[in-house]
Amino acid sequence: MRIIRSLSAMAAWSRTLRRQGVTIGLVPTMGALHAGHRALIRRARLSCDAVVVSLFVNPRQFGPREDLARYPRRGSADSRLCRREGIDVLFLPSRARMYPSGFGTSVTVEALSRRWEGKVRPGHFEGVATVVAKLMGVVQPDLAFFGQKDFQQALLVRRLAEDLSLGARIVLCPTVREADGLALSSRNVLLTKAQRRAAPVLFQALQAGRAVVRAGIRSGAAVRRAMARTVTSSAAVRGVRVDYLAVCDPDTLEPLRRIAGRVVLLGAVRIGRVRLIDNLLVRSPRR
Ligand code: AMP
Repeated sequence: MRIIRSLSAMAAWSRTLRRQGVTIGLVPTMGALHAGHRALIRRARLSCDAVVVSLFVNPRQFGPREDLARYPRRGSADSRLCRREGIDVLFLPSRARMYPSGFGTSVTVEALSRRWEGKVRPGHFEGVATVVAKLMGVVQPDLAFFGQKDFQQALLVRRLAEDLSLGARIVLCPTVREADGLALSSRNVLLTKAQRRAAPVLFQALQAGRAVVRAGIRSGAAVRRAMARTVTSSAAVRGVRVDYLAVCDPDTLEPLRRIAGRVVLLGAVRIGRVRLIDNLLVRSPRR
């Protein structure tokens, strides 16, 4: 495994391999790698000849009052995991290399970046779109792998890749969960023991919503109520604040009043100072 820090060396490596007909898969991460990231890496290894994992805690996607300083950093464990998984390049650009002085571009994916996570975290998706466009420009992957855990992000990146003809196909990989349903996240280590016990309530709310959709109920409001009720009736409720629970069109993320076919249930909660997000894709039964 090579560790590459310079953007020009990364681009040169990719150019050489692509000329030889080697297909390149990119797995963008912010590090503190866990089994969710590992699943993305394994999927990339199955689909591509060479795999690049980028590790960059992107300051532009954190708001001024968010947890950039507290975001977990596990450099050497991350690099061990990558080596064990047999990746080809660990791309570790510094902030100064990604955003040198004079950097003046911000990428906005209209519409998709204004709802849900974008509303609660203004500027977040501009930061994501800008860094992903830059990483794709440097690495020039054939395929790039994203987790369903961050569903809105994955949709937005797909739009970005298509709109700006970035040339990479975006592959969406299923959410990896703990045994109790909590979606793996680098932020989970920031939960206290009591908060960790409360955390599965988000997945439980989504499951309750899924059961209502599967029962053939067509009202978006009824599904939302079932999700909200799960949180308020849980023993964990006092420590949990809901940012949103929503029933949406899985392509546009517009909230749905009437359900027909595929929907995505989106949720975000705060437990203490930690924000958790999750989602489920569900299909309502045919009449
Ligand atoms: P992050 O390091 O949190 O920015 O995540 C890097 C990539 O890993 C993103 O595409 C995430 O959606 C994906 N990811 C994070 N957690 C999970 C998970 N539990 N299951 C699957 N993919 C995940």
